[in-house]
Amino acid sequence: MPANVPVFKNYVNGEWVPARSGRLFENRNPADITDCIGRFADSDERDVKDAVDAAAEAYKSWRLVPAPARGEILYRLGQILKERKEEYSRAMTREMGKVLKETRGDVQEAIDMAFLMGGEGRRLHGQTTHSELPNKFAMSVRQPIGVCGFITPWNFPMAIPAWKTTAALVCGDTVVIKPATDTPHSVLNFAQALEDAGLPKGVFNVVTGGGAKAGMPLIKDRRVKVISFTGSTAVGRTINEACAPDFKHVHLEMGGKNPIIVMDDANLELAVDGAIWGAFGTSGQRCTASSRLLVHKKIAKKFTTLLGERAGALRVGSGLDEKVEMGPSINESQLDTVLDYISIGRAEGAKLAAGGRRLTGKPYDKGWFVQPTVFGDGHRKMRIATEEIFGPVTVVVPISSLEEGIEIANETDYGLSGAIFTQDVNKAFVAMRDVVAGIFYVNLPTIGAETHLPFGGCKKTGNGHREAGLAALDVFSEWKSVYVDYSGTIQKAQIDVPDLPARAAAKKDSTRKREG
Ligand code: NAD
Repeated sequence: MPANVPVFKNYVNGEWVPARSGRLFENRNPADITDCIGRFADSDERDVKDAVDAAAEAYKSWRLVPAPARGEILYRLGQILKERKEEYSRAMTREMGKVLKETRGDVQEAIDMAFLMGGEGRRLHGQTTHSELPNKFAMSVRQPIGVCGFITPWNFPMAIPAWKTTAALVCGDTVVIKPATDTPHSVLNFAQALEDAGLPKGVFNVVTGGGAKAGMPLIKDRRVKVISFTGSTAVGRTINEACAPDFKHVHLEMGGKNPIIVMDDANLELAVDGAIWGAFGTSGQRCTASSRLLVHKKIAKKFTTLLGERAGALRVGSGLDEKVEMGPSINESQLDTVLDYISIGRAEGAKLAAGGRRLTGKPYDKGWFVQPTVFGDGHRKMRIATEEIFGPVTVVVPISSLEEGIEIANETDYGLSGAIFTQDVNKAFVAMRDVVAGIFYVNLPTIGAETHLPFGGCKKTGNGHREAGLAALDVFSEWKSVYVDYSGTIQKAQIDVPDLPARAAAKKDSTRKREG
């Protein structure tokens, strides 16, 4: 290990502190594993306890800071991230491999969230409404919940922490985050930006380390009131179960197997363009990746040929090279998973139209590179067409009608994102209505969400909550309904009926009828 490899610390109570054990883990560039980004705190339950202590103490005052003032800090955060966008994007590409254009998008998402939630500081609207009783006032207000624990994945290392953090902070909650071990640096950069924006000590804390050793103690700490997790469905289930005994609020964003339906009337070039971006953006390592292409049988062959040609021509390499279009897989184990699925696809009888191999030789030898891979002649029941691969592999499954496309789209366990390419507005609306997904695109691939709309999925992708948009506020706040009675009497809702003029007239009328 070269002596000049930097050592990074946890961020707890506004201080940079080592893990109590003194242990460290390494983080290496997936495009060149001889490049060590740094050594990071390998935390355990003692470090998590310190961070939750800090967040619980800070909550006492942060919840009372007026929301517009909380929002102003988020504005400053947005401004700082804007100034450091290039620096943080480069650090992110080095740490996790996606190309610079995309890491700039990742930091931009954090900037957009900072401004979106900064503005929410002056809204955080509740409802004021009318009481059913006179001289009584009724309203509902959002209240913070307390300490929130975040467990995040590596594929959007600043955007996803920012989705959660900005919403929680504007609501008045405090945060402890445990990022993925493949991308701690981006989250520490985010912490630095929050510190520089003037966030009080203890409001935001980062504890780096593994899932079982540092993630689980965070989930199990009874002082943590909300767990917000983004990652695989298998880990999400474990976390859901761990949160159940305390009835902890739990927000889960998990895997996907996202379909694009391509109808025979589609603009073919546009659909191929969309499939390239949807399947190979972030090397296919997006929860929203377009990993199933349900293409009308009349155009399936032509579509597969064009897609194969385009995929084969993609420039693969280090994301730090501006000319490169697709980076590496995140680590060796993910590369092995991708190669396994390619073997499975071959064995299942799908036909390779592009790729299918690990890239070797210069400049690939030091990284985890695999060719962009397209399978044609897929079948709806194949494992490559139903299981999340999380790599640059997509499969064309021919369909004979829109109805069949929708049926296949809906038959996996996941329900994150869906798309259709068609020129027929009627087909577009039917698919929009009937594909079971949290996000749907017409004439776009399954990726590319905007921060001011809710993001999340159905079935085994999510548990009914949403990130981003105003929906995110529901995860991080609790509704309180408030009644103020200024009648001077104890009025009983549903029991006391106010004597209104119209009711009095109707009563008089019915008495007259009875008597007369
Ligand atoms: P992962 O589930 O392996 O890890 C996610 C996080 O959970 C990491 O921080 C990890 O350290 C932690 N973790 C793992 N085991 C744990 C345990 N037992 N207790 C507590 N924490 C634990 O996922 P990943 O490989 O980092 O990310 C890829 C997955 O994330 C894919 O399935 C992808 O679809 C999903 N994802 C979903 C969304 C979404 O919004 N739906 C977004 C991005 C990624």
